[in-house]
Amino acid sequence: MSPNTIKALNISQRYLHGPGPSNVHPLVLQAISIPLVGHLDAEFLQVMEEVKILLKNIFETSNDFTIPISGTGSAGMEAAFANIIEPNDHALLCTNGYFGSRMGEMIRRHGGTVHEIKAPWGEPINPATVEEELRTNQVKVVCIVHAETSTGVLQPLEEISRITHENGALLLVDAVTSLGGLPVRVDETEIDICYSGTQKCLSCPPGLAPITINPRALSVIKDRKHPVRSWYLDLTLLMKYWGQERVYHHTAPISMNFALHEALRLIVEEGLDVCFNRHALNHSALVAGLEALGLSMLVEPQYQLPPLTTVLVPVGVEEASLRQYLLQNHQIEIGSGLGELKGRVWRIGLMGHSSSQESVRRLLRCIEDALRAQHFQFEEGEAEKAIHAIYAPNN
Ligand SMILES: *Cc1c(COP(=O)(O)O)cnc(C)c1O
Repeated sequence: MSPNTIKALNISQRYLHGPGPSNVHPLVLQAISIPLVGHLDAEFLQVMEEVKILLKNIFETSNDFTIPISGTGSAGMEAAFANIIEPNDHALLCTNGYFGSRMGEMIRRHGGTVHEIKAPWGEPINPATVEEELRTNQVKVVCIVHAETSTGVLQPLEEISRITHENGALLLVDAVTSLGGLPVRVDETEIDICYSGTQKCLSCPPGLAPITINPRALSVIKDRKHPVRSWYLDLTLLMKYWGQERVYHHTAPISMNFALHEALRLIVEEGLDVCFNRHALNHSALVAGLEALGLSMLVEPQYQLPPLTTVLVPVGVEEASLRQYLLQNHQIEIGSGLGELKGRVWRIGLMGHSSSQESVRRLLRCIEDALRAQHFQFEEGEAEKAIHAIYAPNN
């Protein structure tokens, strides 16, 4: 193909209901197209200050060290481990899905030793197993995923936080899929290090990774004996740019920060509780509708994740064909299962701007259509009735 035959982009519009990215709010798309100013321009410095204030509000923290890392959610993850883990440090890793395993990979690459406790995919980590492990092994940090996007499990953190601190360890939490979709409450839960990403519940394109670190974890980082192995993700250097000194480190992705500023501002304008309730309500309606069609969820109700629902593929239905049908006929993207759930579940995201009554209705209507195409038997009109029962008292 000769390069001068390549045409300007012409990309389809999709309804994004996979495990991320989710649809970007139109005002965020506007913000990303604002012409650039310099990355040390007073107006951009003001944007940076406001992004920090907005992030602190959504993380529900007073931590001064709260900034967006340049890079996607995995860059936030790597920044956390690069700065906390020194060679020969021990970490307790809780895994009950794909992203826990990624954390383990990073800990080892930064020279740490991993002690792992597991729960089956689809179930949360039991605090008693954390306690047992901490009694036998002294670790520097306990690492856990708040919202496991691979399984749709919401991990309760309070008990694990208490046990972690009683044993003198730090608590490190992945909030990539929870931030903006459900309360993270960094201070109240005493999370020491917490990171997220922009393209899940923040309704923003992928490209930044908010991170917050409390004074206890910061002093551990300050007392490191070895330099952080990543220059780019060295938080002490980054803080000199994001703090008062404004020392050049790397050029901030200016347009992405404009986008994040607008995305965060929209959440604060909506109100955190209103935003979280919207995610919870739309999730309940989706589950009620799917169950009325005769489908079952992977996760027990009390551990279901409002932004991401894992649905078991029923006997007689082709997992991949249903997804293809939705994309080709309705412009809807949903996710497949990862790892050991491959072929067994669909992952349906209702994240950020994509979590609306309208999108739940569209999803159910189109999933019915796709099931019909595969001759799956269900009662017509039942899903509509089920979601009406959920929405009616709230309308
Ligand atoms: C998406 C995700 C990540 C990785 O984020 P990227 O933006 O893909 O790098 C990490 N943890 C969880 C729980 C996620 O859902």
